[in-house]
Amino acid sequence: MGATADHIRLTETYAAHNYRPLPVVLAAGEGAWVTDVEGRRYLDCLAGYSALNFGHGHPRLLGVAHRQLDCLTLTSRAFFNDQLGPFAKELAELTGKEMILPMNTGAEAVETSIKVARKWGYEVKGVAPEQASIVTMSGNFHGRTTTIVSFSTDPDAFGGYAPFTPGFRTVPFGDVEAVATAVDETTVAVLLEPIQGEAGVIIPPDGYLRALREVCDRAGVLLVADEIQSGLGRAGTTFACDHEEVAPDIYVLGKALGGGLLPLSAIAADRAVLDVITPGTHGSTFGGNPLATAVGREVVAMLREGEPQALAVELGAQLEAGLRPLIGNGLTELRSRGLWAGIDVDPAFGTGREVCERMLGLGVLAKEAHGQTVRLAPPLVASVDDIDLLIDAIRRSLGTS
Ligand SMILES: *Cc1c(COP(=O)(O)O)cnc(C)c1O
Repeated sequence: MGATADHIRLTETYAAHNYRPLPVVLAAGEGAWVTDVEGRRYLDCLAGYSALNFGHGHPRLLGVAHRQLDCLTLTSRAFFNDQLGPFAKELAELTGKEMILPMNTGAEAVETSIKVARKWGYEVKGVAPEQASIVTMSGNFHGRTTTIVSFSTDPDAFGGYAPFTPGFRTVPFGDVEAVATAVDETTVAVLLEPIQGEAGVIIPPDGYLRALREVCDRAGVLLVADEIQSGLGRAGTTFACDHEEVAPDIYVLGKALGGGLLPLSAIAADRAVLDVITPGTHGSTFGGNPLATAVGREVVAMLREGEPQALAVELGAQLEAGLRPLIGNGLTELRSRGLWAGIDVDPAFGTGREVCERMLGLGVLAKEAHGQTVRLAPPLVASVDDIDLLIDAIRRSLGTS
């Protein structure tokens, strides 16, 4: 009790209160499991918001990181390094695109896609100066920068941060007609999460992505898929867009790209798009550093082999089958794809937060997305027994077993 309380007090006293963590203080992790400062073990079913798709301390990723730490960690882009080139080629091949642009955090990659789309709009599409517009979706989450929160529809995310960056038009997620109506000659991009993660694993209607692809093709607009959370195996495919066999013009990647070891993000696109970026027009001190890109190469290799995607399908089916009977008996709704589920808790059984607190007591870590919704995203390296444990913990947290 003492150690946990001490760490919480320190954090709450000296670190700004921009999160409301569950009262558990973690000190170690391996695979799908973490251990707190008092030696209690927990199944990690948040997995760093999907940054930990490959679990804690994956041996292949740790091996690469240890080797690279002893070798070279940072050069800046003032010079070449021997990891960035191969990483760029391998990630480009994974996405089916011609080039990538590396950054660090997800928000930076989204910002990069916005800058690239606008510059492409002016230089290639011929949009009138300063008129570029981008269509975004209600319920979106793309990060925390001032420009990105400018098109957030969540008052917690944007409140108090005005004035906002202009040039965004927000339409309801899942509504193709609304996008078609919002698009005009100023539109350079449609930016969306193919599955909205922070909103609670919101899956659009079947055919939505393909229809958006057609709208964008007809209007000469870039389709930009923020796959920071949905991509890299989580949804049972390399990218969530694969589900509809849709190729966006720009992939935005992050989170699991750094293997849960360090921040690594990137956008991937063809030359006709990314060539608008020229020396001095965009950059980042840490972007493309050899430590991060060495780890990223191993992540790409694992995804090329396909095991994480296959595990997401298999374990996801198990999770879905275990949770489905709870609809009408503790849950009001279940949305899932791959090893990724959003469950809506029936208010009669408590709030999302309360369910997460009860699960914590049962040794399972999960986090409410908001209100009644809990997001479940165990590492893809979880075992069949782990998933059974998760299902059981949810049942018991709802008092339905
Ligand atoms: C997490 C997330 C981001 C932001 O990534 P950061 O690394 O936290 O900046 C952007 N888009 C989506 C879809 C995300 O899930």
